[in-house]
Amino acid sequence: MSPSRDSVVAGLQSLMGHDRVATDTETLAKRSLDTWPLPLVQLAMGAQPAAPLCVVRPRSTDEVARVLAHLYRQGVPTVPYGGGSGVLGGAKPGPDSVVLDLGEMSRILSLDEDNLTVTVQPGVFLGKLEAWLNERGYITGHYPQSIDVAQLGGLVATRSAGQFSTKYGNIEDLLVSLEAVLPDGQVMRIKDVPRRATGPDLRHIWLGSEGAFGVITEVTVKVFPRPVDRWLQAYAVPTMRTGMEVIHRFLHDGWRPAVVRLHDEIEAERGYASVVNKGESILLLLSEGPEGYAQAEGRALDRTALAAGLHPLGPAPVEAWLEHRNDVHEFEQFIRAGLIVDTIEVSARWTDIAGIYERVAERLRREVPELIVVSGHSSHSYPQGTNLYFILGAQPPRNPAEVERVYKAIWSRVMETTLAGGGTISHHHGVGKMRAPWMPAELGTSYKVLESLKSALDPKGLMNPGTLLPLSGQEPPRP
Ligand SMILES: Cc1cc2nc3c(=O)[nH]c(=O)nc-3n(C[C@H](O)[C@H](O)[C@H](O)COP(=O)(O)OP(=O)(O)OC[C@H]3O[C@@H](n4cnc5c(N)ncnc54)[C@H](O)[C@@H]3O)c2cc1C
Repeated sequence: MSPSRDSVVAGLQSLMGHDRVATDTETLAKRSLDTWPLPLVQLAMGAQPAAPLCVVRPRSTDEVARVLAHLYRQGVPTVPYGGGSGVLGGAKPGPDSVVLDLGEMSRILSLDEDNLTVTVQPGVFLGKLEAWLNERGYITGHYPQSIDVAQLGGLVATRSAGQFSTKYGNIEDLLVSLEAVLPDGQVMRIKDVPRRATGPDLRHIWLGSEGAFGVITEVTVKVFPRPVDRWLQAYAVPTMRTGMEVIHRFLHDGWRPAVVRLHDEIEAERGYASVVNKGESILLLLSEGPEGYAQAEGRALDRTALAAGLHPLGPAPVEAWLEHRNDVHEFEQFIRAGLIVDTIEVSARWTDIAGIYERVAERLRREVPELIVVSGHSSHSYPQGTNLYFILGAQPPRNPAEVERVYKAIWSRVMETTLAGGGTISHHHGVGKMRAPWMPAELGTSYKVLESLKSALDPKGLMNPGTLLPLSGQEPPRP
């Protein structure tokens, strides 16, 4: 039998002190949701999310270890909470859970200028770290749109990707080492070296672990000297397929522009109507690096783009994107008004991606009558393929159950079409609670390895139940 709320709270208060265990209504309400649009739209219609038992705020690895060991002995489910910017319910707790809020572990610990790394506690917000590094002549190279609301621990735990990833890499390329606490309170540390060939790379257990294997308590990431040179250019593109072929050519030839974004005709009209013709897509490019690098790369990219017949638009559209790229206030307004506004990011090989883009858009428009709009862009490219980031809007009836029906109608079609087209169901937002039911289909014959890892590290199944792996018997919704 699980312990009562009162005994869980009293046990944690005697372990940590009263001031570190919050039970007030406001804190519980704030920590009962992350940025998952489904419950946020339902909240706008009056549905109240379940609150956790309490919120604990550790300040050190030792405190995390003591709390986890205690909750593990008591058999209490525990949900690590970072910035709460996850969009899939990964940090949304159940009513029987304790939330472990990492927000007070927010110290930048050391900058190693010889080895180009910085070490931080997990609760440091990325935007704060970037500003701190900029003052010292460095950058993180990691620019997710949520830079000001996501923490380093959360970014590692969700395998995040930044807007300049084509040059600097994603978080798995940037993470050098870490420390974490296992569900039973044991601390484990991975040392700080540039590369290793000592069996499977254990960093990858934590990259994308989403709180299901334990708590990340320290992170060391790469830093880069501030680039001194930039080249920007935009192009009008006749179709998404043509744009994808041009990006494929850049990457194939060995170029790695920091920003490569191809927005479809709907997004081009939404953001760049004064420079593109109706029906055209837009390609935004940005190169940066040491003296001479960006101009040299820019000249090569320009030659390829012109040879493919793209129409140059100058740097202004890229400058406009740079200025407004993290502004999402309209999304928040729509959600508060009871509209479903969501983003779904998938990826696939060059040979599959255009087909997935076309089939997802066509299927949603035909099969989901509540859909208002579906648009898409590619924003993270590799020599082997690229991602698609769908932006979706729908008008559900004003009722929480109907919101869920329409929401799942959209998601199930995107997941199913992506899997059928040979893609992966998430490029960078992760799995959370929303995608967990599709994980067996996503991983196929390797799903059993993920299950074994979960039961080896968390045999009682107490860390973030229902996130990353589905709950027992949970099936994906059918389209
Ligand atoms: C407007 C907006 C834009 C976004 N843009 C991007 C983008 O460009 N790229 C991108 O990759 N993502 C993006 N995201 C998604 C989100 O910001 C990322 O998933 C981010 O990595 C989550 O970090 P967080 O600190 O907010 O984690 P949370 O949301 O608090 O948690 C996410 C998951 O990680 C776990 N977790 C958190 N901290 C720890 C820890 N220390 N140890 C173990 N587990 C932990 C939680 O339990 C949860 O499962 C965006 C989100 C929003 C709202």
